[in-house]
Amino acid sequence: MTLGVMNYEEQQKALQAVQRKYSRCPNCGIAAGAEIGDVVGLPVMERTIPSGVGLGGQVIPALPVTCKNCGHISLFSAKEFITSD
Ligand SMILES: [Zn+2]
Repeated sequence: MTLGVMNYEEQQKALQAVQRKYSRCPNCGIAAGAEIGDVVGLPVMERTIPSGVGLGGQVIPALPVTCKNCGHISLFSAKEFITSD
């Protein structure tokens, strides 16, 4: 069994915050509602020589919000929704 990053209380806090910030989809413009997913990680890239770009080792936690109409995914910073206790 795997557990998501956020507990129930954090998910509810995130859902309330998203409902305040996400009134319409930035892609289709329709207010069809959105679903929040579990936290994902965006790898931070770094410049390398000679290949140009490589994984930097840091990850930005992001909360995906998916439009129920078109499926467009918006990402919000997840740091404000995750508690450290
Ligand atoms: Zn949409």
